[in-house]
Amino acid sequence: MAHYPPTDAHGLKRRGMLFVLSSPSGAGKSTIARKLLADEPDLALSVSATTRPVRPGEVDGKDYHFVDLEEFRRMVAADEFLEWAHVFGNRYGTPRAQVEAMLAAGKDVLFDIDWQGAQQLFQIAGGDVVRVFIFPPSMEELRDRLERRATDSVEVIDARMARAANEVSHWDGYDYVLVNDDVEECFRGVKTILAAERLKRSRQTGLIGFIRRLTR
Ligand code: 5GP
Repeated sequence: MAHYPPTDAHGLKRRGMLFVLSSPSGAGKSTIARKLLADEPDLALSVSATTRPVRPGEVDGKDYHFVDLEEFRRMVAADEFLEWAHVFGNRYGTPRAQVEAMLAAGKDVLFDIDWQGAQQLFQIAGGDVVRVFIFPPSMEELRDRLERRATDSVEVIDARMARAANEVSHWDGYDYVLVNDDVEECFRGVKTILAAERLKRSRQTGLIGFIRRLTR
């Protein structure tokens, strides 16, 4: 698919954005993130570091950088995280260098992080951050999805359901909200948000020169 909008046509350039997708786990965010990355060549995923154990099927360096508590603490002390938070009794953080490299390469960056991360990124980068929250259609459906995934014990699923209510309560810290009734429809919604945000006037640089040439 052609890149739209082109980033360097007409002497126009665009500042990269930090595109945050949050939802309670099981609401379909990972599927949407995967589809977006496959469909959007100018979007790159920020791979977080976490102290939580690897789940079956997960790949170190691709899904997460799996680190122990000591390494995580070292990274915090060395200011290597753009943001980090405690989630479900584990620590999760966004490595700063990777995000900076992606932005420098002209990419927008996708974050699969929770409300605490969204809030911290917004404090750092303000208008360069776009925050999208995905709701499950219902809490019953969410529980069904977590059980079907069958990667976590009943205790972990119970804890995740308790956390889900808490996640949902932070909906007002987001710019956009969607309900994932149908994954294709929700995906189209997220793509529309990305496309519209890319066209925002405030993200364009070189605009004054362009207008000057246009009206010469
Ligand atoms: P999971 O363990 O299911 O992969 O992720 C648990 C939660 O942690 C999810 O809501 C996910 O979005 C969030 N998370 C993953 N990485 C980060 C991160 O780097 N920072 C923050 N704040 N949350 C994260």
